[in-house]
Amino acid sequence: MSIAKKIYVVDDSIVTRMFISGIIKEIPNVEITEFGNGEEVMEGIRNETPDLLILDSVMPKMDGLNVLRKLKELKIEMPIVFCTADIQSTTKEKAINLGITEFVNKPIQKESLLEKIKNILNS
Ligand SMILES: [Mg+2]
Repeated sequence: MSIAKKIYVVDDSIVTRMFISGIIKEIPNVEITEFGNGEEVMEGIRNETPDLLILDSVMPKMDGLNVLRKLKELKIEMPIVFCTADIQSTTKEKAINLGITEFVNKPIQKESLLEKIKNILNS
């Protein structure tokens, strides 16, 4: 058995974190760690870079775009799936310019997220 893929799930809503983690658990051989905001996950990433980051947009302390900016500044790279309900603003565009791998609209559709995660982990 290969080494488990490490996935970080970041969202300020515990319900959303549980929902996302529940979806990811359908994939074999993954190790999930949850974080409640950008500051928390940056601490985690400084210790260990995951194989995949599932990142919420709107969060207290440090939001998703600021996490992306910080990662760019620190030159830390990993696949990132960015989740936001923000359909009208330029948030999506900004996130793409900051180098996200995939984009998922909220409310999250299970099959859509699962497919994107599988594609990333298999590539
Ligand atoms: Mg949020």
